[in-house]
Amino acid sequence: MAVRAEVRNEQRKRIAVVGAGIAGLTAAYELQKTGCEVTVLEAKDIPGGRMAEKLEGSFMKYTGATGLFRFYKDMWDLIAELGLSERLMLYPKMGSGIANNTKETYELDFNQTLGMLRHPALSVATRLRLASLIPDFLRARSSVDPCLIHTAAAFDDESMADYLTRKVGTDFLENVVAIVYRNLWAWNVEQASKAYFLMIYPHVRNRPSYTFSTGFGTLTGALAGKLDVRLNTKVEKIGLGDDCEGRSVICQGPQGRYKLDADIVVCGLPGNKVANVVADQTPWEKTFFADVPYAQYAMVAYVLKQKPAQEFDIRTFHTRAHKTPISFIKTFPGSERTGDPPRLWLVLAPDRQRHYLDQDGSNLDRIARHWAKQFYPSLEQDLKDVHEMHKDYIIASFPPGQARKVRSLLSTQEAGPKNIYYVGDYLGNATTGGALAIGRRTARKIVEHWVN
Ligand SMILES: Cc1cc2nc3c(=O)[nH]c(=O)nc-3n(C[C@H](O)[C@H](O)[C@H](O)COP(=O)(O)OP(=O)(O)OC[C@H]3O[C@@H](n4cnc5c(N)ncnc54)[C@H](O)[C@@H]3O)c2cc1C
Repeated sequence: MAVRAEVRNEQRKRIAVVGAGIAGLTAAYELQKTGCEVTVLEAKDIPGGRMAEKLEGSFMKYTGATGLFRFYKDMWDLIAELGLSERLMLYPKMGSGIANNTKETYELDFNQTLGMLRHPALSVATRLRLASLIPDFLRARSSVDPCLIHTAAAFDDESMADYLTRKVGTDFLENVVAIVYRNLWAWNVEQASKAYFLMIYPHVRNRPSYTFSTGFGTLTGALAGKLDVRLNTKVEKIGLGDDCEGRSVICQGPQGRYKLDADIVVCGLPGNKVANVVADQTPWEKTFFADVPYAQYAMVAYVLKQKPAQEFDIRTFHTRAHKTPISFIKTFPGSERTGDPPRLWLVLAPDRQRHYLDQDGSNLDRIARHWAKQFYPSLEQDLKDVHEMHKDYIIASFPPGQARKVRSLLSTQEAGPKNIYYVGDYLGNATTGGALAIGRRTARKIVEHWVN
């Protein structure tokens, strides 16, 4: 249900939203609807953050997300409210492909449930023990919102790896679960929590995923179109306002450096960037933002001159038993009709990055190219362009204990009026759906605290 409140003009709150990712844009949109005066400040030249798409020459470069799940309830509501539902389409192959554990090759498919009972890479004992997860799934389903990690804090007592090894078996951990999390989330299962597993897994398995027929930036583009978004405007510092009233935001934009005064700031920066920008932090903020875990995602795309002669329909996941540092290889044959070039994607395994990748990811192409040539020998001759899609610490992660930390941050943030509020995927569930949910929830809290 949309929040509405009548606000007299002289009482209009001036709100600066820092960062035009889906979390910041959603909060901005909800607050603007209540009559607040909202300005969004975004460092990049497009809105959307890790949900935007950007054309680099003829190459569509994703900044992050490519698929949406049905359990993103707030997102589905907002898509309908903006009249964008017709633009959603099924994204059938997300998370599926062929897995290879050096002994067997088998189909990996999010949409399989009963398939687990005849899974070639699981022992009979493991298949039977899978039933032991059902009571925990049911308990989690009845109390947990899959977009909000703090609602799973009661389950936050061990790692995903310990939990699944104890309850089911290492073959299930290595041959099914670890593959999904190391490739789609860039996480090691040892550094991910049981709370996250119980919160998300029942909702992504056996459920279709979706994308937009008009490009992944459709939703963030529509939101930005309704707001005052200042692009190319990097926020350098968010400090206390003059006389300690509100907040002052120091920006570097196309017109130079300037200060924006706001009654309230909504900080939609990635959690690992907050500490460098927000000054005058209280002890609860300092404790939390000193260490917000994000995983490094390293992925490279090789664009080819023409469709290769060799078979070119590969979606191969490697398990951790594999010796290569590459965990996922995917090919796109391209299309002569649309001019979409054939290309090859490689993802570096998170558990191998430490041994292969420089801290800043500067040697990504060299490493990926070396291994790519093992299954695509004519790469050098056929290569047109190289796009390092990602190599930064850009996936929010939830190691054991993080759900409880988020619960504690949110209970302080939501307890009463503040002049700064935080939104972002690191407070949701590391996806667009969670980032949007926390943006919407926080906007409603601000209205409760300040406007009504
Ligand atoms: C490779 C990858 C694949 C993913 N796949 C999926 C998927 O398929 N489905 C899914 O649901 N989720 C996926 N995700 C996760 C999803 O993209 C993010 O969780 C979500 O987009 C984060 O939104 P956000 O608003 O919290 O942060 P962001 O989108 O990062 O927004 C933060 C914004 O702040 C801006 N900013 C930073 N510093 C400053 C500054 N100093 N001044 C002003 N602005 C600043 C940034 O430019 C950015 O626009 C994926 C992520 C990655 C990286």
